[in-house]
Amino acid sequence: MPELYQKLEEIVSKKYISNSLYVRHAYSRTVDPVLQGVPDIVIRPKDAQEVSEILKIANEENIAVIPRGGGDCEFGGSKPIDDSGIVLDLKRMNNVVNLDQENLIVTVEAGISWGKLNDYLCNFGLYTGCLGPGSGLTASVGGGISHQSVGGGGCAKYGSCTNQLVSLEVVLPTGEIIETGSQANKYSKFPFNRFGNGPDFSSIFCGDNGIFGVKTQASLQIFPKPPFADYKTFLMPRKSEEISAKIFTEIRRKGIDIYDSMYFMDLLVRVGTEKGIFPLWENLKRKRGTMFYTVEANTEKELEEKVKQVDKIFLQNKAEELGPEIADGNIGKWHYVEQGHWLIAHNLWGLIPGFTALDAECHTPIAAYPGILKDVELWDLEHSNEMEKILEISGMRPISGAGPIILIGDHNVELTTGVTSFESYIDGKNYEIIEELNIKLWKSLLERITKHGVTWYMLGDILSRLLIEIGAFQPEYLQFLKSVKKTLDPRFILSRGKFNFWGENGKKIS
Ligand SMILES: Cc1cc2nc3c(=O)[nH]c(=O)nc-3n(C[C@H](O)[C@H](O)[C@H](O)COP(=O)(O)OP(=O)(O)OC[C@H]3O[C@@H](n4cnc5c(N)ncnc54)[C@H](O)[C@@H]3O)c2cc1C
Repeated sequence: MPELYQKLEEIVSKKYISNSLYVRHAYSRTVDPVLQGVPDIVIRPKDAQEVSEILKIANEENIAVIPRGGGDCEFGGSKPIDDSGIVLDLKRMNNVVNLDQENLIVTVEAGISWGKLNDYLCNFGLYTGCLGPGSGLTASVGGGISHQSVGGGGCAKYGSCTNQLVSLEVVLPTGEIIETGSQANKYSKFPFNRFGNGPDFSSIFCGDNGIFGVKTQASLQIFPKPPFADYKTFLMPRKSEEISAKIFTEIRRKGIDIYDSMYFMDLLVRVGTEKGIFPLWENLKRKRGTMFYTVEANTEKELEEKVKQVDKIFLQNKAEELGPEIADGNIGKWHYVEQGHWLIAHNLWGLIPGFTALDAECHTPIAAYPGILKDVELWDLEHSNEMEKILEISGMRPISGAGPIILIGDHNVELTTGVTSFESYIDGKNYEIIEELNIKLWKSLLERITKHGVTWYMLGDILSRLLIEIGAFQPEYLQFLKSVKKTLDPRFILSRGKFNFWGENGKKIS
């Protein structure tokens, strides 16, 4: 190990590598509190060349490498799966490389955050359309593309952030550096098209959860931000899951170009208001579900027309409009005007100290989510015994339900559902029983929702392996996935262990 450390230090210099205990522990977790893997080394390269040299050494030494952007994955994706390996922190690579205003394409280093990128673009009246994930103030463009993220604003209109991708610079697990899309033509002067004289190989790195290559640069389409926008929030009838789905469907069926729309179920509004995470709804007399929409337009007339059409759909479905100001409860305005799109989910991980979401995030057709939420209620009843055990120790029963349900591209919604439970460390004591129950509950919930046929996009440690363990993949597809992995990464260096891909024979080799 000292020799390996020395070789890596020669690549990045002393300042950008560490094996100190506190740095290794700082990189041993992502957002959830129940998954941990302590790396041997943390390294912070500055460009593709350094990444390439690191990967070549990792191949020689047969040591796992885990790419990490903002570390905001909720499923343990950017920490080691066991206690070993090198965490490759890409956040040093956070510059805008080129703004092509003529062709409306921006090229950035993969570690830049969505917040920093859009802050830069707004100086030119531009934005990325889909603003990445809700964690966009810290989450990176590379992490967003690796997760196929969506939800941080603009996703009803623009879909997930991978829709905007034109080309990537990727370091393959064996160290070769490639450019995808139009840049595959060595005579091309700038990125302008996603296909590279043949297949769309940018796509295999979209949603790959960091197993096929390290993204070092990305070129994205960008858009002029329209000068007009409106945003309204509605109080929904009680138990309005079905009604909200009907509203989303009608918006799509009428082909209305909506920028964002979200539904907050009754329980979320009630508990969220009680716990202080939605101060703008504290004065609502009836703490019921709410739903908002945002539309953008190039002229006042166009805006007026769109608002009229969307309002009609909401009002016909018995939704009651709240006042226009944030203080009136108009979360739609806060979401669009005050960057709420990057703040809205943050408190879900800090509802009450020690209370934390073990969640499930998936894409599903609009019509499917009311049924999934009913099944989550049933699942909760079936797991009452485990929940009661946590209640006995912590004084509070875990809560199951859904976060904001978001209209996204492909006529889907992004569904965040799950169980919010206590961490095992309570009043200075570690309760192993809670640790065990949390993992058990989480796996059971993920399995249950998988059986609704959903598409997971952020798989990380726990979900990528669970899908294999419960046999959720079509066998031929799984074989295909593994062959691609083996071709690109013969020693299974990159993100070793995800999907239970440990090595040639499927055996754990770390
Ligand atoms: C408050 C909060 C809100 C969130 N809201 C959303 C949301 O609305 N929508 C959503 O989709 N997710 C959401 N997330 C989850 C997560 O933040 C996003 O999926 C985000 O895109 C992850 O980006 P990151 O830079 O933090 O990636 P990381 O967590 O660092 O990494 C994610 C995965 O990508 C890989 N990876 C990272 N960078 C690279 C790279 N350059 N090359 C190759 N692989 C790489 C990692 O190995 C890992 O598998 C939220 C999380 C939090 C905490």
